[in-house]
Amino acid sequence: MEQELWSRSCRALRQRLESLQRAGVGQCVRPPERLAAKQALRVPVETVAEAALLEKRQDAASTHAVGDVSGGSSAGGLGKRQDAASTHAVGSPAAGGSTGREAGVSQPVPLSRPAALDALRQEVACCLRCPALSASRTQTVFGVGDPQARLAFFGEAPGADEDRLGEPFVGAAGKLLDRILAACGLRRDEVYILNVLKCRPPDNRTPGPEEIANCRPFFERQLQILQPEFLCCLGATAAQALLRTTQPLGRLRGRFFDHQGSQVLVTYHPAYLLRSPDKKRETWEDMKMLLSAMGRPIPEPRQR
Ligand code: SF4
Repeated sequence: MEQELWSRSCRALRQRLESLQRAGVGQCVRPPERLAAKQALRVPVETVAEAALLEKRQDAASTHAVGDVSGGSSAGGLGKRQDAASTHAVGSPAAGGSTGREAGVSQPVPLSRPAALDALRQEVACCLRCPALSASRTQTVFGVGDPQARLAFFGEAPGADEDRLGEPFVGAAGKLLDRILAACGLRRDEVYILNVLKCRPPDNRTPGPEEIANCRPFFERQLQILQPEFLCCLGATAAQALLRTTQPLGRLRGRFFDHQGSQVLVTYHPAYLLRSPDKKRETWEDMKMLLSAMGRPIPEPRQR
């Protein structure tokens, strides 16, 4: 058991370092508290193997400051809503300490939006924070779409089809979402689609509070990177998780909320619409409100 855990940790670390290398990160930075204890430590990453060996000699708990999930949504070094041309810093010194320049360590490495997403995707791929979900998943389901999209859709969690294919909203509910997008005059590749959880809950059960808390740093950082102008929550679970509320969906529809500068609208989950088609009319009202706020034309019924 211990051996298996060790192997998984090593594999996770290797994947993470490979991802950082691909993103152009040449050095890993120690958090300031370790620097104070061990003096300024500059770790050149010549090869992934060398880095893995180095890491093996040090305790596994002291993860690098680069992209540390435990840092929460705001400690990942990613600025709050920058313009589309801006880059995303990975490898910034841990919050609360001296700057990298003061400590004599490397400065944050700027990443483009796709590269920052890719680095986060790799981090998610080796996440073991939910033991049951990580053990039962086929793969993690990160997100799909245009990294520069003005509009993102935020769902609940992968289902069986998504778990198999590694892409959100590809089953029956996904096909309905595609039809909703088409009715709005949008294509799937013009928006971005992500979920609260990146792993499938067994039997498609509703995600538990602990699982949502575990995955929160991932989706919050994903949204910080994407900076969508508009965010459409699909279903109560997604809306309540994002807005940190227990209000029912009926009380959340019909108005915009703010989340990190994104305008958030709540509507029904397509899976619910498959079971309750009478709610499609209300969903269309929500979509019209969204299109209107985006300044987009609202297609006539015959065009939809
Ligand atoms: S659901 Fe999220 S936090 Fe839990 S194991 Fe999967 S990626 Fe990690």
